[in-house]
Amino acid sequence: MKRLLLVLVLTGCLSPTEPDGAYPFDPPDIYSVWYSETVRCLGGSAASFDGIEWYLVPGDGWISPNLHRTIIGAYYPSDEIFIAEGFRFHRSVVTHEILHYLHSPEHPAPPFGVCDHS
Ligand SMILES: [Zn+2]
Repeated sequence: MKRLLLVLVLTGCLSPTEPDGAYPFDPPDIYSVWYSETVRCLGGSAASFDGIEWYLVPGDGWISPNLHRTIIGAYYPSDEIFIAEGFRFHRSVVTHEILHYLHSPEHPAPPFGVCDHS
């Protein structure tokens, strides 16, 4: 439960301001594995992994001026996912944002707290 709270606090789930310095990147192969696992956990999805536009943000997090806290991952309804460089291989951060893309901009639990490996 503590880890779930950490992810919820640090990920920018409420449309934070887009981070400065973000740049597009090709997701590493492990992301498609995590994506498939998340889809399986949900019991299926018609969405496509290729529908996500991935961005990295320099550093270990960015300050969101409108949320007044440090963010390490964020999903935007335009199907863009931003991940702080320092957390790009943190499964729980990446799958949390994938779950937003696949399921909901909110945090219904479950599947949040289960399918995002928090
Ligand atoms: Zn979230």
